[in-house]
Amino acid sequence: MIRYTFALFLVLLSITFGLAQQKSISITIDDVPNATKYQNDGYSPKLLNLLDSLDVPFTIFINEDKILQTEEVERNKALLESWIKTERALIGNHTYSHSRYSEVGWDNFIQDVERGETLTNQYASKYGKDLTYFRFPFNDMGKDSIQHLQIREYLDSKNYRIAPFTVESSDWMFNYAYQHYVDKGEVEKAKAIGKQYVEKTLALVGFFDEMASSLYGRPIKHIYLCHDNAINADYLGEIITRLKQGGYQIESFKESLTDPIYDQEDRYFKKWGISWLYRWMDTQEERVQWMKQEPDLSEIQGTYQQILEN
Ligand SMILES: [Zn+2]
Repeated sequence: MIRYTFALFLVLLSITFGLAQQKSISITIDDVPNATKYQNDGYSPKLLNLLDSLDVPFTIFINEDKILQTEEVERNKALLESWIKTERALIGNHTYSHSRYSEVGWDNFIQDVERGETLTNQYASKYGKDLTYFRFPFNDMGKDSIQHLQIREYLDSKNYRIAPFTVESSDWMFNYAYQHYVDKGEVEKAKAIGKQYVEKTLALVGFFDEMASSLYGRPIKHIYLCHDNAINADYLGEIITRLKQGGYQIESFKESLTDPIYDQEDRYFKKWGISWLYRWMDTQEERVQWMKQEPDLSEIQGTYQQILEN
């Protein structure tokens, strides 16, 4: 009897463990709302519509100054409102004007944080949502430990939770090349960039997943960072489908943050926007060791440089 009970215990344990081992990722979108693209698309919010149709949770990080990107200010406000009111969207502040903390300094940065709450808070309360997340533009948390600690204390006092991420794939760089070819009517070249973006993103998710498994001995709840741009409007759907096929559950950012890895101490005090998986490491040597093994992005970097120089 005891033996059977023990066997049952093992089965239950493995089921529980198995559930805990579920691969998971959440989607976070920065620099919302892209008013220029909205206008170019005939006032259709393509990325928002895509996410809505995929029925997945996502979190947006807002720069309210984007309302002024085009002359249609009222329309752009309505665009922001429609992002915020979407049921599956959680919301975060990304400062008013996307300023870089290490460059603008304390006073200007704080002003930019607070100015970034105006409309967002208004819409948030209208739709019963909380503005509790803050993501640093460029994930620049300051030039040294003094700046880092000072801003953390401030955000804490305002009940903001700093939004981390584990995976990003330079989607802004792919988007730059993608948009360039779309604008020139070079459809095949644009499609090739789109395909490259999908493959590199999946490779990076795979890399950070293996890295996390090796560091923590289990899959972790990943957070993907990307932007409100054309390449995501056209290709994020494929990325999400492929992730699901690969066994990933698309969870909310809030759910991701329940993984205890996010309770770890940030030990990185420079200004660069690196993955939190690196920030939690003890030494720069360890970070560099892993960074060297990241999937190669030199092809898109080359294309990007070439376009810039022409
Ligand atoms: Zn940003």
